[in-house]
Amino acid sequence: MIAAAISTLVVAAVAHGAFHRNSPIFGRVLGRLPTRDRMIALTFDDGPNPIATPRILETLRAENVPATFFLVGRHVERWPAIARQIAADGHAIGNHTYSHHKLHFSSPSFVRMDLTRSTGAITAAIGKRPRYFRAPHGYRNPWVSHIARQLGQITIGWTLGVWDTDRPGADVIARRVRSGVRPGTILLLHDGDGYDATGDRTQTADALPRILSDLRNSGYEFVGLAT
Ligand SMILES: [Zn+2]
Repeated sequence: MIAAAISTLVVAAVAHGAFHRNSPIFGRVLGRLPTRDRMIALTFDDGPNPIATPRILETLRAENVPATFFLVGRHVERWPAIARQIAADGHAIGNHTYSHHKLHFSSPSFVRMDLTRSTGAITAAIGKRPRYFRAPHGYRNPWVSHIARQLGQITIGWTLGVWDTDRPGADVIARRVRSGVRPGTILLLHDGDGYDATGDRTQTADALPRILSDLRNSGYEFVGLAT
């Protein structure tokens, strides 16, 4: 009876660790900013992308807003100049794996190979190593964050995702941010597609000017992850 209860707890804990992006069970993760002030950190995953990323960079530049970009190594090899532009604009860079493979069932050797390969691709493109790591879909296992840390990367989760990858329309994306944001939010948006290097993320690019003005009107300040 007790053994069954304990094993249920263990299974629940392992599932939480594997599938919940901010779970501390498989290593420390920053899932929100440690503040009660109206501060928000923008993050963009799955780029670089030839259409959406340059448009997003233009908006951020015009509004003087910092962000963190979690790059897919395979896409960086295809679009190195865009990766370089992200870094040249002063944004922080994170490693989002080479293949965008879900890692929760991956062996330590696969995880090490994939993360090392993307770290190499990013470093070759931008001339410096990524500081952060985010797992595809937030899925991890006991060695994912450990290996990222050995590569010098802090694991980052997120507070609010708005399913912009479903392409519900720019209005809906902006509205979901407006209604979901809280002080200290790490916002997840997508400038790319984890699997398709030319995937369509124009709705996110279209929504961004509105997202920034809505948040500014609500008194939010845009900050980096700074951890
Ligand atoms: Zn992703």
